[in-house]
Amino acid sequence: SDEADWDLSDFVTDGDEQLAEKLPVVAIVGRPNVGKSTLVNRFIGRREAVVEDVPGVTRDRVSYPATWTGRQFMVTDTGGWEPDAKGMQASISLQAEQAMRSADLIVLVVDATVGATATDEAVARTLRRAKVPVLLAANKVDSERAEADAATLWSLGLGEPHMISASHGRGAADLLDTILENLPETPRERYAAGGPRRIALVGKPNVGKSSLLNRLAGEQRVVVDDVAGTTVDPVDEIIELDGKTWQFVDTAGLRRKVHTATGHEYYASLRTRGALESAELALLLIDASQEITEQDLRVLSMIIDSGRALVIVFNKWDLVDEERRYDLDKEIDRELARVPWARRVNISAETGRSVQKLVPAMEEALESWDRRVSTGKLNNWLKDVIAATPPPVRGGRQPRVMFATQAATRPPTFVMFTNGFLEAGYRRFLERRLREEFGFDGSPVRVNVRVKD
Ligand code: GDP
Ligand code: GDP
Repeated sequence: SDEADWDLSDFVTDGDEQLAEKLPVVAIVGRPNVGKSTLVNRFIGRREAVVEDVPGVTRDRVSYPATWTGRQFMVTDTGGWEPDAKGMQASISLQAEQAMRSADLIVLVVDATVGATATDEAVARTLRRAKVPVLLAANKVDSERAEADAATLWSLGLGEPHMISASHGRGAADLLDTILENLPETPRERYAAGGPRRIALVGKPNVGKSSLLNRLAGEQRVVVDDVAGTTVDPVDEIIELDGKTWQFVDTAGLRRKVHTATGHEYYASLRTRGALESAELALLLIDASQEITEQDLRVLSMIIDSGRALVIVFNKWDLVDEERRYDLDKEIDRELARVPWARRVNISAETGRSVQKLVPAMEEALESWDRRVSTGKLNNWLKDVIAATPPPVRGGRQPRVMFATQAATRPPTFVMFTNGFLEAGYRRFLERRLREEFGFDGSPVRVNVRVKD
């Protein structure tokens, strides 16, 4: 049969995305210009500036696979920073917090020729609370003479400063040895199976995220220690809704609003990425009383890239009159055409109107996100679809779709095995028909093609 020609087990496990999930993660944090990128390049054995992303990993925190003495791990370079000193401190502390949530080991890089700055001290203070190992790298120790400077970095309270020169390679091998000594073989289980579903409340500033959080939390705030089988970050919040517990991720970041003239949107986007990474479902809040903006759509793009389930929440519905409603419908047609599968819920966080509609929409979206279609069912469906509408001829050849399988859930990811290229239009057609047949409301669906000549 067609199926026998393919080594499925090989395919299903070898994607970069899956690899990234199985390897422990080393996060490199620190001020700009201390040499983080230089160090990352050295770790991954590349000289030039790093350019490629690993799919599924957010863009301004880029992860690369690295190997040392036969062991593989991921290195994450925490990019992005603010030009002004005050903003920079907040942004680096935020990066450190995110590293504490997602990494298995953290390396704080400090410029030994400058010594410990106030920012370094603030970050070190944050990192001293980390539950994962933290190593201090004193960079730019290009010669023995420079070692004396580095010794003062003991004052950061992170133990021995590992003296390195990222650009010359001095000390890098020893640092890598120490990293591997302290790095677990496999990434930590961040979330217990069967724990509460994890929700990210996202949206541009002032759409009503904290108002909704307060409304949902109400009197029912649950003491985190009481929830069995969960590993709850102190920045998360457990909220009981409809008799079920839900984990709202990074609510601390939401409640602690950072407003700086230059950095407001920047922080918002950092927070959004971090929250999406930890969550299974995104509640995208949009202010229904205002025109849908570029900024709303940027958050939407981040959600789509993250592959999370999605419910779109139009908030401030109390301010929507008939005229606005008419305009909004047109904006939805125009701007949200990419996500026809996302359920939309109209609420008012202020008055509480229709807030009870959120949970059913969230449950539906997560069910879709988790859903698995058996290979038998899928291929019966595929045969009929293709018989009725075969792939368009390309270069005089009619590609044949021989076989399909659902390679992953969360989100549902399908692979079509073909003997020729399938155009984007046809892939979208297949996705549409997949959705018609099997549901998946509230979840993205990915359709990949494997070509074998
Ligand atoms: P990042 O902003 O922390 O990623 O820092 P970069 O890796 O871009 O490095 C900032 C600057 O410091 C660059 O000009 C590097 O060439 C320089 N640099 C990095 N590592 C070293 C080092 O070990 N010694 C010296 N002297 N310069 C370095
Ligand atoms: P966040 O920045 O997304 O967390 O937004 P906030 O929750 O701080 O809300 C921004 C502003 O919108 C505040 O003045 C809220 O009182 C107001 N607001 C939030 N939800 C609603 C709503 O449903 N209706 C109305 N009229 N105002 C709202």
